[in-house]
Amino acid sequence: MKDIFKDKCEIVRDLLPLFADNSCSRSASDCIEVHLITCKACRDYLNSIKNSRKAENTQQDIPDSSPDFAGLLAKIRRHKIVTRSVFAAVTVGLAALNISFWLTKD
Ligand SMILES: [Zn+2]
Repeated sequence: MKDIFKDKCEIVRDLLPLFADNSCSRSASDCIEVHLITCKACRDYLNSIKNSRKAENTQQDIPDSSPDFAGLLAKIRRHKIVTRSVFAAVTVGLAALNISFWLTKD
């Protein structure tokens, strides 16, 4: 297929944001793909668009991941509660042993 965008990088760069979103028509996408094979400058431009999209997506992912963070906090709290409960049980047990030892030492 012939590169109809040869030496028309400006047009390609206008279309690349749409191309990156898969919003171009099939025929336009085909022409852009043919142009990208031979034009490194436009490939680099497409990569920079994709990278900035990725960065945007990563920022959008933060609110999505916050429930996991809340879940992790809840786990930590539960772990603390379990640890304290075990510690309290051991303390009470030792105190009971001490008292029974003290009561029966005669
Ligand atoms: Zn180009």
